[in-house]
Amino acid sequence: VDADQPMGKLLEAVKNQSKTVKNGNAVVYWMRMADLRISDNHALSLASAQAKKEEIPLIVLFVISPQDYKAHDRGPRRIDFTLRNLAMIRSSLAELNIPLYTRTHNVRKTLPAAVLSSMQDWKCTNIYGNIEYEVDEIRRDMEVCALAKSKGVRANFVHNKCIIEPGIVTTKENKAYSVYSPYQRKWISILNDNQDQYLTEYPDPHPNVDGIREDTVLSKLFECEVPKFVPGFEMEDNDKQTMATVWPAGEEVALQILSLFLHTKSRTSQMGAANPVAEGAESSDKASRIMKYGQDRDNADRDTTSRLSPYLSAGVISIRECVRATLKLQKSKKVDGSRDTGVGRWIQELAWRDFYTGVLAFFPRVSMGRPYLEKFAAVEWEAHQEAGAGGGDVVLRRWKAGMTGVPVVDAAMRCIQQMGWVHNRFRMITAMYLTKDLMIDWRVGERYFMENLIDGDLASNNGGWQWSASTGVDPCPYFRIFNPYSQSIKVDPTGDFIRKFVPELSKLRGPDLHNPSASVASKLGYPHPIISHEEGRQRALERFKNAGAAT
Ligand code: FAD
Repeated sequence: VDADQPMGKLLEAVKNQSKTVKNGNAVVYWMRMADLRISDNHALSLASAQAKKEEIPLIVLFVISPQDYKAHDRGPRRIDFTLRNLAMIRSSLAELNIPLYTRTHNVRKTLPAAVLSSMQDWKCTNIYGNIEYEVDEIRRDMEVCALAKSKGVRANFVHNKCIIEPGIVTTKENKAYSVYSPYQRKWISILNDNQDQYLTEYPDPHPNVDGIREDTVLSKLFECEVPKFVPGFEMEDNDKQTMATVWPAGEEVALQILSLFLHTKSRTSQMGAANPVAEGAESSDKASRIMKYGQDRDNADRDTTSRLSPYLSAGVISIRECVRATLKLQKSKKVDGSRDTGVGRWIQELAWRDFYTGVLAFFPRVSMGRPYLEKFAAVEWEAHQEAGAGGGDVVLRRWKAGMTGVPVVDAAMRCIQQMGWVHNRFRMITAMYLTKDLMIDWRVGERYFMENLIDGDLASNNGGWQWSASTGVDPCPYFRIFNPYSQSIKVDPTGDFIRKFVPELSKLRGPDLHNPSASVASKLGYPHPIISHEEGRQRALERFKNAGAAT
């Protein structure tokens, strides 16, 4: 790993700490927003092993950091999902006699000092955490390392998020890949050759010894409750209820969703209707969703994908467990690199998550609002103030509200509003529509998705937006602009998805549904398109050319 990159610097900082520190009274595992589980958790497992070896208690710490959430455009749904999972983790840990201490610390700059001061209160000399690859978080952890050193504490940060951590799958020149296909080929070969290493299951934490309940300082930690909400991230009651029904919290639920995807028949439920756990009807189809994933995954009007993203983004399920369980379905224990087997294809999709996490770690500018392709920093976007009067605002409001007059785009946007989630194809279509047909800056859409998706993940969201806007690593070429009407017929051939989310059009069938004429739309009270696709397309081509697309 290049030591000049933020992640390289953090790993150096961890390495440069003294190997030994004075014995402490307890060990701390610092749980973060992307590792909300107890099983197969690298840092937790290491912290617990040390606590057991030294016969001292283990404390789990979670810091709620509203300023960080605002800075990363985290939305109330994602925060609520975090709290719901934490509440379950708290009771599971209590059964192991391990306290989960949740504290709120608003000022992000002083967060490292606050964590270190808790360490001193508890007389802890070792803290463990899984690495978060966002550049601000890496910088924060470097500061923790520096402060830890001066306070006689050792900070241990390890990889846990990816199947193959950033920095391993590199080009011949030892550089990070910016093109996906060769990355994926190498990723598969490294994984196949080193399954013991990358598919390791980290042991569950050991129960704490009873002594912790007698310690006057530490015993109080058991009284700490997980808050029900974070000020500034409140939700409407009915939205909170919908999210809890559609996306129930907990490791067991996540494993059940995985198991349903791997083992049970396809469902009749429509995409976005509800979580498979919450909704039960099975179709007459014999094959499980994963077995048909290679051919069916882009049929976005049906329940064809796993819908595990909220659980993977929050780390409620281990990505390693996803691969281990999936490989058990086939005789060969190797990942198949061809694109038409369900199992191989699904694991290849998981590789996208590793890829975009690596992009974030090695090209941190992408998370600072900059395009990966710098030449496209000069693209001229339409006005897009999020508040106040003006044409751009009206257009943006119509996109957000699912009132653009393009049925597939509107259905996708309303699905996000209602479910906090939508299928990948619909994300691509609506992102492409915003950035090309409407020529509104991809950063506006990126923010809106982060604020509203329950699976909001900076790396994947930024990757998806920069792909759609043609500004990212291995992007969709700027001149390949999706026609939303032909896309609509391809990905929603039955029209069920549009009819479900755009009820004004529920009586329409065939081409009328995908592209209603002006008179049909008027009759049904459905808006007319903001701009014709051809006009929008020509404007986008011109703007990208002007920004130096040809160079
Ligand atoms: P499945 O098809 O079952 O795939 C399994 C898992 O593989 C997913 O849960 C996800 O973890 C990973 N995966 C699959 N496709 C991708 C991909 N293209 N990029 C990265 N990981 C992938 N995904 C997020 O998790 N969070 C986001 O905030 C997010 N924002 C996106 C924004 C845009 C504009 C686009 C185009 C894509 C975005 N994605 C995001 C990626 C993808 O749309 C979702 O991961 C996927 O739709 C989740 O559904 P699933 O779990 O049923 O996926």
